Amino acid sequence: MESNAAKCNHKQRQIMWLAIFLMTHIDNIMPNADNDFANLTNLAYLYVIAMGSNRRHRIHGLPRQVLVRAMQRLNEGPTKIVRQSSIIESLPIGPSQRSYANNAIILASNLQPLEMLDWLKNMESEFGTRHRRRWTSRTLDLDIILWREAFCAADLSWCSPSLTIPHCHMRERDFVLGPVSQIAGSWRDPISGLRIRQLHHRLKKPLSKS
Ligand code: ADP
Ligand code: MG
Repeated sequence: MESNAAKCNHKQRQIMWLAIFLMTHIDNIMPNADNDFANLTNLAYLYVIAMGSNRRHRIHGLPRQVLVRAMQRLNEGPTKIVRQSSIIESLPIGPSQRSYANNAIILASNLQPLEMLDWLKNMESEFGTRHRRRWTSRTLDLDIILWREAFCAADLSWCSPSLTIPHCHMRERDFVLGPVSQIAGSWRDPISGLRIRQLHHRLKKPLSKS
């Protein structure tokens, strides 16, 4: 017959395994707050958007203020902001010599990916004309990083001539992965299967010598 001490040990082991299981799978079991918000508002999709500015706007002012105003605009019309990161400053890449203000937001919307790209391009034009070359200075840059259906936490990809999701440069850009991991660290890159916070960690980790 099993002694009381053995029964007790067995119970403790069961509780320990349950705790380990919950800790390992918590992201998939817990209701996702972003998805819950979109479900409440009945909006079909969630998008992670990276925002950047490195030019003053004649009315709104410095790049940081441009991002604040752009977020107000992105909360009107067909998109609603579910979450926003802090705004960081980063060094310029390419021919532009000005530093950037960057942040990231999660938008809930009924817009399909190509409609979302159009809406974001309209918003970019509203804040200033675009230069033809890539990576030149711009008043507002809005990139679609990731997207998913609001009722399902699986992150999706998209590939068409004008739009690629996940954004093809997101994995090498600290100024994208930093803000995005603040608000969507548990979202997955559907190509590599890695979470955003893992991609960010890899990017920051110094290369190991072999
Ligand atoms: P980057 O954002 O890489 O610095 P640009 O903003 O100059 O470069 O690139 C803009 C073009 O990239 C757009 O005309 C758009 O059609 C295309 N594009 C492809 N995939 C995406 C995406 N995921 N988000 C935004 N634009 C994209
Ligand atoms: Mg862009």
